Amino acid sequence: MRVHALQTGTVRVKTRQREGAGRGPARAINTMRDREWTEPLPILAWAIEHPEGVIVVDTGETARASAPGYFPRWHPYFRLAVRMSVTPEQEIGPALRAVGIEPQDVRWVVLTHLHTDHAGGLAQFPNSEVLVTRTEYETASGFMGKLRGYLPDSWPAGFAPRLLDLPSEPFGPFAESMTLTDAGDVRIVATPGHTNGHVSVVLAEEEGFVFLAGDTSYSEELMIAGVVDGVAPNPDQARETLDRIRRFTQEERVLYLPAHDIRAVGRLAVRQPVGTA
Ligand SMILES: [Zn+2]
Repeated sequence: MRVHALQTGTVRVKTRQREGAGRGPARAINTMRDREWTEPLPILAWAIEHPEGVIVVDTGETARASAPGYFPRWHPYFRLAVRMSVTPEQEIGPALRAVGIEPQDVRWVVLTHLHTDHAGGLAQFPNSEVLVTRTEYETASGFMGKLRGYLPDSWPAGFAPRLLDLPSEPFGPFAESMTLTDAGDVRIVATPGHTNGHVSVVLAEEEGFVFLAGDTSYSEELMIAGVVDGVAPNPDQARETLDRIRRFTQEERVLYLPAHDIRAVGRLAVRQPVGTA
């Protein structure tokens, strides 16, 4: 299967978001109070050219996010802790066309979670079936969703994704999963932690697996080290997910591709699995 990396601009966050510090609610406060910013990190989405149709995983960020007024000023995270840089040419529509795919030809859009830098390009897929977990959708909706740092008011009008309740179908170390394709070679696996309803997408190929990880960690190194980020609402659950991913990469040949890893595109280009740097 051909897998394309689609970079929709960059984001800078606090270093304490990439590597969380402290216990309980202090972690989020430490993230926001941190004075140190990361370098610009890519905002990645992915396209899989599958015989059953094109699958897009995450939709990146919209150019509107770099204009004033997009983020609610009252929310401390957006005011203090995140800076997006996305031009209209960097949105997912143009990025897809650059690799020869028309957005209208995309069959499925799987969202690892609903944070704005993963859901920002949704408006470009009116013809696609959008899939997200019920847990994630409910967590992100309404006023509570806004408090939690989601932007439900920015979803396209009439946004009605297919809500997934992942069955208790084990896949390797993962307790819940489902196949997306009839061929059974593309699977959605529960990887909660960064958000409660977070999933990853796993492609089975002859030479091994491709793991489209969303925000389970901000780099391969941090996954191996088991470092939980500074915004996860449930750090213990996030740690357990990182353990499962690490076990999977020890048992199988796995190309691990988080959405904000500066080295992910390079690893995809040479198909470099975990543990072979
Ligand atoms: Zn996120």
